[in-house]
Amino acid sequence: MLRCSLLAVGDELLDGRVSDTNSDFITDQMQSMGIRIVLRINVGDDIEHIAGALRMAMGTSDMVVMTGGLGPTEDDLTREAVARTLGLELRRDTLLEERLKGFFVAMGRVMSPTNLKQADLVEGATPITARLGTAPGQWLEKDGCLLVMIPGVPREMRDMISGDVIPLVAQRFSLQESTSNKTLLVAARPESELAEQVQEALTGMLDIKVAYRAMMGQIELKLSAENSAALEEAERRIREALGPWVVAEGGETLEGNLGRELRSREMSIAVAESLTGGMVGERITSVPGSSDYFKGGVVAYNYEVKEDLLGLDPQLLASHGAVNVEAAGAMAEGVRERLSSDLGLALTGVAGPERGRENEPPGTVVFGLADESGTYGWKYRLPGDREMVRQFATTVMLAIAYFYVRGEEIKDVR
Ligand code: ATP
Ligand code: MG
Repeated sequence: MLRCSLLAVGDELLDGRVSDTNSDFITDQMQSMGIRIVLRINVGDDIEHIAGALRMAMGTSDMVVMTGGLGPTEDDLTREAVARTLGLELRRDTLLEERLKGFFVAMGRVMSPTNLKQADLVEGATPITARLGTAPGQWLEKDGCLLVMIPGVPREMRDMISGDVIPLVAQRFSLQESTSNKTLLVAARPESELAEQVQEALTGMLDIKVAYRAMMGQIELKLSAENSAALEEAERRIREALGPWVVAEGGETLEGNLGRELRSREMSIAVAESLTGGMVGERITSVPGSSDYFKGGVVAYNYEVKEDLLGLDPQLLASHGAVNVEAAGAMAEGVRERLSSDLGLALTGVAGPERGRENEPPGTVVFGLADESGTYGWKYRLPGDREMVRQFATTVMLAIAYFYVRGEEIKDVR
């Protein structure tokens, strides 16, 4: 397996002002080409420290990707550090210089002379055009190691990684992209339980590596294998074991897939939220084009609002409280009716840390769904602290809607 090191440059990474999301992105991209990340270093804007880190990275890797420190200011030292470490000169590139000057003319801005620094190439390096900003990247090979330098601004970094670096690396090392990796998104399963199920499903398959990443009440499973046949077999087994809980794959999201299903069925949806305070609506509307199917949402936190805006029976709330399937069903029907949608969703419960009004333990959440034929409800205990309960609840609500729309049976969530 090819080994790659990442070197992220910038003081802001060391004092916690900025977290190194660039390296997270590049790690994902490299792994999906079957490249192993062996080292990730964050280093400050200090030429000696950058040089030391670079020597270490080059010593252990077939390729090194550096981000940051390619701008025009004095503390942008990546070019100088690379040149010094490799014993090479910096040369001003006339083509890059023209391009930089052109950029400033086009923007109607005056270029300060320090900007010309960005036209400097390490001897023998090939420039990577800046499509989005002013800082070009560059790459070169030295001592059998491919060294790539790209700007730190995340948008520019992503553009160059996807548009230039991946094709370059694929060609240089004769790689096929994305054959030996697969990500599956699993909704609302406790991580330990999921890991057990996956392990059991993959019994006897020794060459499969599984990485787990928990996020927003969901777990991303990343499978890697040496060949695509093994990968397919692993995926088949996991899907069989987890059933509909696998809600997305690759770069898809649960909310995106839900939207796609709603759109293709020409169905509209509305949501009544209590303990999540709008998080379900937020996830649904994070998808571009969601106005095609999302009517809107009502955040109904207290009893009066549940009565006034969703039409809940005060009697029901007074005698049974709001944390029961009847209340959730009535909220779903209320929002469906008032917002004239095909489908109504509702969730209410106790995020904690205190017990609920009717003494329900934290994590008790009820979900309601209403369609033209009636209402359905589910009551669960979700794990974790307040924030986790809210995130889990949001994901479970979206998953319930997704199962319903696809005609899947809605099984026990926990
Ligand atoms: P520029 O020409 O824009 O100055 P640069 O290569 O000099 O490009 P930096 O100055 O190092 O880039 O960083 C620019 C911005 O990008 C900073 O505001 C920083 O917050 C962000 N950034 C830099 N490195 C990272 C990183 N590893 N992860 C996430 N964000 C980063
Ligand atoms: Mg900079």
